[in-house]
Amino acid sequence: MGEKTFLIDTHPVRGDSRLGRVWIFSDISDMRQREQALLALAWLDPLTGAFNRRFLLSRVEAYQSQAVTGEALLTVMIFDIDHFKRINDTYGHDQGDVVLRTLAVRVKQVIEACKDSILVRWGGEEFVLLFFATNEDHAQSVAEELCFVMRSQPIELGDQQFLTATISLGGTLFRPGEQVLSDSIPRADQALYKAKHGGRDRWVWT
Ligand code: GH3
Ligand code: MG
Ligand code: MG
Repeated sequence: MGEKTFLIDTHPVRGDSRLGRVWIFSDISDMRQREQALLALAWLDPLTGAFNRRFLLSRVEAYQSQAVTGEALLTVMIFDIDHFKRINDTYGHDQGDVVLRTLAVRVKQVIEACKDSILVRWGGEEFVLLFFATNEDHAQSVAEELCFVMRSQPIELGDQQFLTATISLGGTLFRPGEQVLSDSIPRADQALYKAKHGGRDRWVWT
């Protein structure tokens, strides 16, 4: 019934319904909304609002099927904040959390226009990103943009304190026949490793 959800219970007034039936309509819309909110919480990382690993695990099959049947290219990226331990050590863990949250906000802005994008907090300061790109150039331009939005805007920590946090990123395209979790992400991770060793604040494609 429109925006509302009702639980309907009906039974005879007495015996075989000849005296009529009683219908009980219970409005359970609030309960439904709470259920859905809880479900969303179970999939989200509370600090950054990014999805958690569990969410990715629940969606990965669907992404793979879409990658095999559709035109768009499933892009898999993994990225990690550079020298994040140093940031924590210098500014404190709470400020480190501010950096993580800022990163998530900026990344979400960049990927808003990307088809079916999901940002996943993969580990402490490591994120996995999936979306469908129109071609490899498009995928790589997103990688460049992600590095740029971190590098180019200092993060305000309060008290007139600013810091610039950069990321290193590894990216790849899903290849039909492989598995995102056991093939594409590890391949992207190797590219991330190269980005770190190449001097950080950069993306490497594989
Ligand atoms: P690299 O450039 O090689 O990535 O160096 P790094 O210092 O970023 O990497 P390392 O893996 O040595 O350190 C990651 C740090 O991230 C250590 C850990 O304390 C911190 N960390 C993990 N999760 C959180 C979190 O939720 N909040 C904060 N503030 N720090 C976190
Ligand atoms: Mg790091
Ligand atoms: Mg790390």
